[in-house]
Amino acid sequence: MTKVAIIRCEKNENTCPMTACFQCITEHKEGFERYSECILTGVFTCRCPGINAIDLAKILKSKGVEAIHFCTCAFARKTEKGWRIQNGGFCGHADTILEDIHKETELPCVKGTAHLPKYYTLKVWEHVN
Ligand code: SF4
Ligand code: SF4
Repeated sequence: MTKVAIIRCEKNENTCPMTACFQCITEHKEGFERYSECILTGVFTCRCPGINAIDLAKILKSKGVEAIHFCTCAFARKTEKGWRIQNGGFCGHADTILEDIHKETELPCVKGTAHLPKYYTLKVWEHVN
């Protein structure tokens, strides 16, 4: 059972209650399909410009979290044709934030949670043994 956490973006914390994110964890779908079993172990909110994310990730790790996911809306946008990566999401530097979190915590960092954009291959920062 992999203990997962989500870091969401402050830019929609008052508009989305993360329903699809939680549903995907429960059903092991989309960004969580990579786990045979997983359980939500924490949620934090990133604040611009994102420098708090490393501290949040360290706290999550101290609570036993084994993988950190960044919300899909941070890097993709909902369109009439579904979620798309073109034109980005709320955050212009999600990759940098995730790379920094991975370097500091050594936890696997996953770019995506729910409704992954069409043609998107899940991006993961993790050690390869
Ligand atoms: S990824 Fe989707 S469900 Fe999760 S916080 Fe963003 S908009 Fe809400
Ligand atoms: S740094 Fe990016 S993910 Fe973090 S709050 Fe700002 S826009 Fe959202």
